[in-house]
This record gives sequence, C-alpha cells and structure tokens, in this order.
Amino acid sequence: MIMEKPTTKKLLGQIQELKEEVIRLKELAYKDELTRLYNRHGFSEEVQKFLKEIVSFKRHPERRESFIVKSFSLIVFDIDNFKKLNDTYGHQAGDEALKTVGGIIMESVRNIDLAARWGGEEIVLGLVGANEDDAFRIADDIRKKIMAAKIKWKSKTISLTISGGVAGFDTAEHFDDLFHLADKALYKAKKDGKNMIIKVGSLKK
Ligand code: GH3
Ligand code: MG
Ligand code: MG
Repeated sequence: MIMEKPTTKKLLGQIQELKEEVIRLKELAYKDELTRLYNRHGFSEEVQKFLKEIVSFKRHPERRESFIVKSFSLIVFDIDNFKKLNDTYGHQAGDEALKTVGGIIMESVRNIDLAARWGGEEIVLGLVGANEDDAFRIADDIRKKIMAAKIKWKSKTISLTISGGVAGFDTAEHFDDLFHLADKALYKAKKDGKNMIIKVGSLKK
C-alpha cells in the first residue's frame, strides 16, 4: 500500500487539533465540573507560581523580574448550614446554590485571581497583589453579595450565607501554613455565629 505524504496544511491542522485537545484535557484535570472553578490540583499548581515569585521578591527585591507580584492573600470560604439546605430542598438545589456561589466569587475578583472548589461546600480564593486587609474587604463584599442573592429553585427562592477566614502572605510563606491559618480564622467565624469573615490578624495570639 502506498502511504500518501501529508501536506503541510494537513499537518498544521493536526497540530492545531492536538493543541485544542491539550487545552481540553488540562481544563478537565484542573477544573471542577460543577462550578467551573479550579479543583484542588489546579489551584495548588497555579498558586505555587505566585508564592515562589513573592518569596523571591522578598529575598531579592533588586531583581526587576520579580517586581510583579508583591503580596498574596488566601481566603477559605465555607457555606453555612449547607447540609440543612440539601435536606430541605434536595441535593440538586444544593448544586445550584454551589454554582451561584462560585459565580458570584468569580465575578467579584480579577482574572489573575484564583478560585477553587476545595471540596464539598468549601471554596478557596487566592488574591494576587492583595494584603490581608484588602482581602478582608473583598471577602466581606462577597459575603454580602451572597447573602443578598436569591437562588431560584423550582417555585422556591433560596437564600444562603457563607463564612470565611483570611490569611495574608505576611503571616506565612508556605501554602500549607497559609491555608492552616485561614482555616483557623474560618473556624472562629463559624464559632462566633457564621455569616462572617475573620482575618488572621484579628485572632488572639
Ligand atoms: P457549617 O455551617 O458548620 O459549615 O455546616 P454545614 O451544614 O454547611 O456543614 P457540614 O459539613 O455538616 O455539611 C456539609 C454538607 O455539604 C454535607 C454534604 O451533603 C454537602 N455537600 C458536599 N458536597 C456537595 C455537593 O457537591 N453538592 C451538594 N448538593 N451538597 C454537597
Ligand atoms: Mg458548611
Ligand atoms: Mg464544610
């Protein structure tokens, strides 16, 4: 059998198809299907890049290339009483609520910021260039927007609230430590009554 030699045009077409396939696979590996936010894996990969850049800036401020990102804050959000919402309206209504929360968070931040569904009804947000006080204000605006949102489900209108903990890069350099601190602040927000954002700086030492 004589094999036909592929034309350049055909090869370029195949390369383009492969590129699109890689983007599609990356999207599948990095994103959460329900909310279209990053998943844990995608978020961790992206966040490491920023943290490395800030650490390098703090150690070598004279290096011009590391002038881009100087601060970073992490927010851990958790929907309040989500189990009750599922129990009252059903799991599909809960899914709809998760999508709404994800959407509000995405539209409240910039393209460069990173939002991920960390698991269940927990969402983490990485704010690039924001210190802890900036991040607190952004998180509290998100909290207010979510509290005001009305989720339509069948003939019902559902309301919900979220709590959050905020940790700025200055409180920890490594992602795991930053996450732990933000989670501690979130725990306090839950304990103090929910529908509340707490920053690490206001926790008692
Ligand atoms: P708290 O205010 O203390 O956070 O209480 P909570 O009820 O939100 O927390 P709890 O951890 O008791 O329950 C979380 C619930 O989230 C239980 C689980 O069924 C629900 N959940 C987790 N993932 C999903 C999901 O993908 N879709 C839906 N609909 N529910 C989910
Ligand atoms: Mg919850
Ligand atoms: Mg939870």
